[in-house]
Amino acid sequence: MEKKIAFFDAKPYDRLAFDTVNSDFGFSITYIDAHLNAQTVRLTTGFDAVCAFVNDILDGAVIGQLAANGIHIAGLRCAGYNNVDFKAAFGKVHVVRVPAYSPHAIAEHAVALMLSLNRKIHKAYHRTRDGNFSINGLLGFDMYGKTAGVVGTGKIGQCLITILKGFGMRVLAYDPKPNQDYAREAGITFVSLEQLYSESDILSLHCPLTPETEHMINVQAISMMKNNIMIINTGRGKLIDTEALINALKSGKAGSAGLDVYEEESDYFFEDRSTEMIRDDILARLLTFPNVLITSHQAFFTEEALTNIAQTTLGNFKEYFDGGWLKNEICYRCGAVCPKEQNKRCF
Ligand code: NAD
Repeated sequence: MEKKIAFFDAKPYDRLAFDTVNSDFGFSITYIDAHLNAQTVRLTTGFDAVCAFVNDILDGAVIGQLAANGIHIAGLRCAGYNNVDFKAAFGKVHVVRVPAYSPHAIAEHAVALMLSLNRKIHKAYHRTRDGNFSINGLLGFDMYGKTAGVVGTGKIGQCLITILKGFGMRVLAYDPKPNQDYAREAGITFVSLEQLYSESDILSLHCPLTPETEHMINVQAISMMKNNIMIINTGRGKLIDTEALINALKSGKAGSAGLDVYEEESDYFFEDRSTEMIRDDILARLLTFPNVLITSHQAFFTEEALTNIAQTTLGNFKEYFDGGWLKNEICYRCGAVCPKEQNKRCF
């Protein structure tokens, strides 16, 4: 029998990508505009699976209700899973994700933010369209020879490093699990966070959001940074204490910021709120800076990534319904670092 998937936070581009790929799978997908949370979980009655995205909430209450509704598989159509209480999920609901769909998409977007901020493309675009061909105030710097600090050298961090090395940048990296063979091959140096902060002209965040990394960019971290640093965040919003960033931008300590994620993004990002006032004063303040570029969690948004996301997500559901090994299941104990081989997982 056709398995029924309740697909939350559905957008037109999701429907297009999933409907196209689903012709090979034959699931019955019901697209639901709402986020999955404690209020909307009742909509899952009668379904066999749920599909969720970055701002859906799979906390203990939602997991409990899913299990009570007979749903034992939740497929995240994203890599990050900080929105899942996976300890609550253990033994009740299998949670699968898309560990890699296009690390290039996110790395390339991080570079787009860097270049736009550096060469002030966002300002130039409006000037020339307004008949203003002055370049006064648009002065940038050569990327060549500057130092980039990359926090997190997983799939995305490594793609970014390849691009930055192509610019002729010196790259410093921090990762709690530094791979020295990789560092030698890539021509980069693993350093402490303190050294990375104090020597980087551009800082880019590519680590997961965990209790250890929450607000890692705070007043203390910023105080260690080089004056005029550019801070890029395509990881997760809560990696940065936004009020501390705003103060650093106001004082001139931080030179610019490119943010694809924001700690309170769930009420705004992915939605058209252009006819309303912004009630979030911190977001509104960020949007007033000429040296801040905000994109709405779009780093993943390439054709290749969307197709890969749909293929892996529906493949994850197929594995579950076929009774197979769930290679993309989140480990309830260690998360992404759990050994991937069957029977070697730590749960
Ligand atoms: P990955 O698992 O391949 O790499 C993460 C790296 O971070 C690993 O090398 C890990 O050792 C390291 N790390 C763990 N804890 C750390 C810490 N405390 N400090 C520094 N490094 C640490 O993950 P990935 O595919 O490269 O993705 C990285 C993050 O990017 C994801 O967790 C997700 O939050 C975010 N992401 C954002 C988007 C977007 O559209 N903006 C899309 C995909 C992923």
